Amino acid sequence: MDLARTDIYLDGHWVTASAGQTLDVHSPTTEEVVGTVPAGTAADVDRAVAAARAAFDGWAATAPADRAARLDRLHAALSARADEIARTVALELGTPLKVATRVQAGLPLTVLRSYVDLAGHPPAAETVGNSLVIREPVGVVGAITPWNYPLHQVMAKLAPALAAGCTVVLKPSELTPLTAYLLFDAIDEAGFPPGVVNLVPGTGPVVGEAIAAHPDVDMVSFTGSTATGRRVAHLAADRIARVALELGGKSANVILDDADLATAVKVGVGNAFLNSGQTCTAWTRMLVHRDRYDEALALAAKAADGYRLGDPFDPATRLGPLVSAAQRDRVRDHVARGLADGGRLVAGGPDAPLPERGWFVAPTVIADVDPDSALAQEEVFGPVLAVIPVDDDEHAVAVANNSRYGLAGAVWSGDEERALAVARRMRTGAVDVNGAPFNPLAPFGGYKQSGLGRELGTYGLEEFLQTKAIQR
Ligand code: NAD
Repeated sequence: MDLARTDIYLDGHWVTASAGQTLDVHSPTTEEVVGTVPAGTAADVDRAVAAARAAFDGWAATAPADRAARLDRLHAALSARADEIARTVALELGTPLKVATRVQAGLPLTVLRSYVDLAGHPPAAETVGNSLVIREPVGVVGAITPWNYPLHQVMAKLAPALAAGCTVVLKPSELTPLTAYLLFDAIDEAGFPPGVVNLVPGTGPVVGEAIAAHPDVDMVSFTGSTATGRRVAHLAADRIARVALELGGKSANVILDDADLATAVKVGVGNAFLNSGQTCTAWTRMLVHRDRYDEALALAAKAADGYRLGDPFDPATRLGPLVSAAQRDRVRDHVARGLADGGRLVAGGPDAPLPERGWFVAPTVIADVDPDSALAQEEVFGPVLAVIPVDDDEHAVAVANNSRYGLAGAVWSGDEERALAVARRMRTGAVDVNGAPFNPLAPFGGYKQSGLGRELGTYGLEEFLQTKAIQR
């Protein structure tokens, strides 16, 4: 593994970045510097966008079957690196290796496979009266991604954009750029035409803003915090560029009185703590019917206490550190405020034991959380579960919808019709009933301040297409 990366990927080649400055990458487990990448500049973005623009007409005109074949080659090149990707994510983000292998490396391969298939079967032209309605790629796409799923968040943009016939300039998170370098090693090996895919690492205020504001970027596809998403949308609005935004969440896990409580709580806690709680879809509010509330709290505390914190490379570790010291401090502040606002600590908390080194927070469960309080309203992005009692289905729906976010959610009930009735009333982009499995072809995205647009499957492909009517 080469952890000192010195180049950026432009126009089909690894080339020297314009400024010569670098950004350090840390291991959140040891707090040590484990790699460096170039700090890209606005001039690098200009070069990358020019390459993507020059490549666009040719890639847009490439036959769908040929685009699918390139993506298939990328799948092979990436599959060969799956172990290295999992280890790199464990290193730079701290996800336990087992989870990193299954989710951080495995899921993007599944998503890429789905777009190998979809690329070969683009939406057909339609006849509407005397109009021929055709779909065309939107153009040059600027993709800006976060650190919490450093390959998946990229793949959820890159694969559909390329399948649609768009060209791409990617800026990965400065906290986890090494994974993106492995992806671009695979892209280089797969042999896309020069300029079709470009990588400019760097910070948000420099490279991110240059992409979002660039006059020749036709669409900005952003995943990250709601605050940054708002800024990106403002920059894009100046030239009416299309934006897709995948933002924060504060998802509700609704556990009704006739649920299989042991399963609902165990799966719910696991979901809230996945990737140390650094998951935008995490079910961070557990809403439990009062009749089962105390029982649920006991189960949640037991589940949380069973999580072993530690080195992501140790097979016994179930929970790694948070990505940065700043993130760790933010999460600690949320816990302190949640307790000061009247929450009752039932697991973890500020005094729970932690490894000596690393940016860890103990898995924490706080009960009796006021639905209007900061802990119930703000995205914590750490292993902190807020539990809230509810009186009945009506009350559960009201509390679930008492959020400016609407990304995901869950309902548990012994009666599927009852669960579906609640699911339909939740103002959120996705709801899982009774622990149903993740579907990589289902539309993924948010209501309200959780975002605009959808990723994955055909819905994700549509985001990168324009619609043209030709009258005859
Ligand atoms: P962030 O908003 O700080 O950063 C996201 C990306 O935007 C990074 O690449 C960053 O460098 C860049 N950026 C920062 N400032 C910018 C600016 N002014 N202009 C342009 N780009 C800029 O978010 P983060 O801390 O990396 O990620 C955590 C957040 O992402 C959480 O709020 C989480 O909920 C959200 N998230 C959402 C989804 C989703 O699909 N809805 C998925 C993962 C993460």
